[in-house]
Amino acid sequence: MPNKEMLLIPGPTPVVDEIYEALAQETMSHTDMRFAKIFSEALEITKKMFNTDGEVFIIAGSGTLAMEMALINIVAPGEKILVISHGYFGDRFIGVANALGVQVEALSVEWGKHVSPELVDQKLSEGGFKAVTVTHVDTSTGVMSNLSELVPVVKKHGALFILDGVCASAAIEEDMGKEYGAAGYSIDVVLTGSQKAIGVPPGLAIVAFGPRALEARRQMNKVGSYYMDINNWSHIMREPFKYFATHPINMIYAYHKAMKIIEREGFEARYRRHAAIGKAIRAALLTYGMKILAREEIAAPTLSCVLYPEGVDDQKFRNSLAQKGLIVAAHLGPLAGKGFRLGHMGNVTNETLCRAIEIIGEGLQEQGLPADTDKAVQVFKQVFAESMEK
Ligand SMILES: *Cc1c(COP(=O)(O)O)cnc(C)c1O
Repeated sequence: MPNKEMLLIPGPTPVVDEIYEALAQETMSHTDMRFAKIFSEALEITKKMFNTDGEVFIIAGSGTLAMEMALINIVAPGEKILVISHGYFGDRFIGVANALGVQVEALSVEWGKHVSPELVDQKLSEGGFKAVTVTHVDTSTGVMSNLSELVPVVKKHGALFILDGVCASAAIEEDMGKEYGAAGYSIDVVLTGSQKAIGVPPGLAIVAFGPRALEARRQMNKVGSYYMDINNWSHIMREPFKYFATHPINMIYAYHKAMKIIEREGFEARYRRHAAIGKAIRAALLTYGMKILAREEIAAPTLSCVLYPEGVDDQKFRNSLAQKGLIVAAHLGPLAGKGFRLGHMGNVTNETLCRAIEIIGEGLQEQGLPADTDKAVQVFKQVFAESMEK
């Protein structure tokens, strides 16, 4: 099976053999009852993961399609939304809103920092916002949004809460049934993609609509898309052997397998493992004199935005890693050249992460910088173990 390389970018993430095997199963008819059963089971586990009594939609597409699908079904052209942006992917909602003719205002901050809930409160007090978008983990900065702060502020103002979980779902709790401080103060939409913490190759857009979001769709007569209109998919997701548009059959096999793996690990256990990995990776890289862009309290469990110590040639460094089979991602925008982004989510093993820590240390050594790789790996293991015990 593949996976000779360590693909530690913030998605796609390493795909385990079990999932490749599922992907390679014989393609059935999209109306075959056996296929429908697999799809229904995958949808059920997804609903459990998001703890929603609403509806989940899984269609061919990427995370960006999921963003657009979330917005187009609950906000009409001319209505207004607020975008809370912690980086590149937060900003992407501005582009989506513009394309849909939705009025948009945005609150953003310097990369690596948090938009304060007070500012959100102030902005929403101006009134007229139908929905607010929040990126759970912004993949450009490694900043994780604080849902316990943001959900109550948004719901207090009566706006729908849309959560972009593309770099978080299946690694960090996204509980749509949870009430954050008062009745009805909960997340209305979670959207995600298959290729990040879920651990399937790219190709699926997944969107969960809670009851208030479904009601918002009912209030709109029609939406400006045929393929993305949830009204065209609702009955299909209930009875996946029916036809609206052909399902990505093999991707659904793979997704089903991934959801089984996630359920087997246990949602809570998986969230705890990711939190521990995040802490351990950051602690290990700090021993190399590297810095993490986001401060510890808001640093994501799923990826780290790492800044080099003085004197590292970015291109040379990442090339050297790649030659040893470790693929990391370049920084985006204002951070380009100043470090790299390391994905540590999904079905990645600690063994792979320890090997990655060694290779990163060797990359520094090649550029004449000190790096004690044994110590860094030791720190990883120790912090991981401590954090799992809590
Ligand atoms: C990757 C990512 C996206 C975009 O997903 P694509 O599958 O590339 O379209 C959107 N939001 C976040 C937070 C992401 O990490």
